Amino acid sequence: MSVSNLQLRKGKEQSLLRKHPWVFSGAIYSDVTKLDDGEIVEIEDFKGRFLALGHFQHATISVRVLSFEKEEINQSFFDKVIGNAVQLRMNLGLLNAQNNIFRVCHGEGDNLPGLIIDFYNGVAVIQCHSIGMYRSINLIAEALKMAFGNKLKAIYSKSSDTLPDRIQTKDEYLYGICQTPHLAIEHGVNYSIDWVTGQKTGFFIDQRENRALLGKYAFGKKVLNTFCYSGGFSLQALNQNAVLVHSLDSSKKAIELTEANVKINSFSGGHASILADAMDYMKELKELKEDYDIIVLDPPAFAKHREKRHQAIQGYKRLNAHAIRQIKSGGLIFTFSCSQVVDKFLFTNTVIAAAIEAGRNVRILEQLHQPADHPINALHPEGEYLKGLVIQVV
Ligand code: SAH
Repeated sequence: MSVSNLQLRKGKEQSLLRKHPWVFSGAIYSDVTKLDDGEIVEIEDFKGRFLALGHFQHATISVRVLSFEKEEINQSFFDKVIGNAVQLRMNLGLLNAQNNIFRVCHGEGDNLPGLIIDFYNGVAVIQCHSIGMYRSINLIAEALKMAFGNKLKAIYSKSSDTLPDRIQTKDEYLYGICQTPHLAIEHGVNYSIDWVTGQKTGFFIDQRENRALLGKYAFGKKVLNTFCYSGGFSLQALNQNAVLVHSLDSSKKAIELTEANVKINSFSGGHASILADAMDYMKELKELKEDYDIIVLDPPAFAKHREKRHQAIQGYKRLNAHAIRQIKSGGLIFTFSCSQVVDKFLFTNTVIAAAIEAGRNVRILEQLHQPADHPINALHPEGEYLKGLVIQVV
């Protein structure tokens, strides 16, 4: 294999020596103008000593490391790393009669920076966040076939939303074909998933364990699930015999998905959908005489970049203050943030600030996070993004 060398500036090797898997453009000494997006490069320090191998891209994060060893990045490399990723999910018991939805590969957390793979009842959906991974997609597909064997019926590649426009991408089946929406199960509940038209790969798998936890609190309760998307939290609450669930989203499409998902299950509790802005609706709860026992707040990331962090915190504070002010005494709030730049301490402090602003006494019952199929590479703390709290408003 012939690979280009990429030399770092003097002293810029420290993060790689600590096994952090990114190289920023400012750390590079070599002239990169002749390098192609997605090509594999051998990174070396200023003295020419080997540091790592990775995918190059003309971007702020210029290299995403695939290996800190000198090795060939070929089919057997992907067979090994993807095989390990699949094995972890099997060991976690995520593929069984009650559950067949899970994340197979979580980027840096699985030592494959730039690669997301989700599994929905026999179908793997690949989403590449780097051009190098997209160029390797056939190797990735072969590795998935080998690791899953006959448990895999189809592979869909969906990277047109996540890669720069300058490269040509096509969303398509790489293996088999599967009609969407496709029925899959999470903790014993049916969900119909559409990776072709849905957000991300079709479903927010990262909330699986938090949805199950909501189920444990939901018996006999009246629940408001705001930012519901396809009704993930609503269905787990109904499955555990919530008496009434209201699912709210500002997107009509999301409400349609939720209603379709409620229909394919048989629940005894009541369900209604609300097409509205979450903040506006919560402001009116008292006038509407809605007395929910539990409110779920799972908004989209309010900050995608560090510069937006301050604004995001104000947004989380306002949202949580509304819910805390409005919920009945003794009520619970499941509150989340998936903004990577807002860490769990900052988020907790923001919720506490919201409680102070609302003038109500709040206690923290549970501290929540992303599940084990979304692992965090300890040497890449940026991989931690989802955090949540269950608070009780006294
Ligand atoms: N909780 C969901 C995932 C939420 S994704 C699950 O478990 O699957 C975020 C959702 O928030 C999207 O469906 C989006 O349409 C919705 N949304 C964004 N802004 C909103 C707003 N201001 N009010 C209500 N919903 C909003």
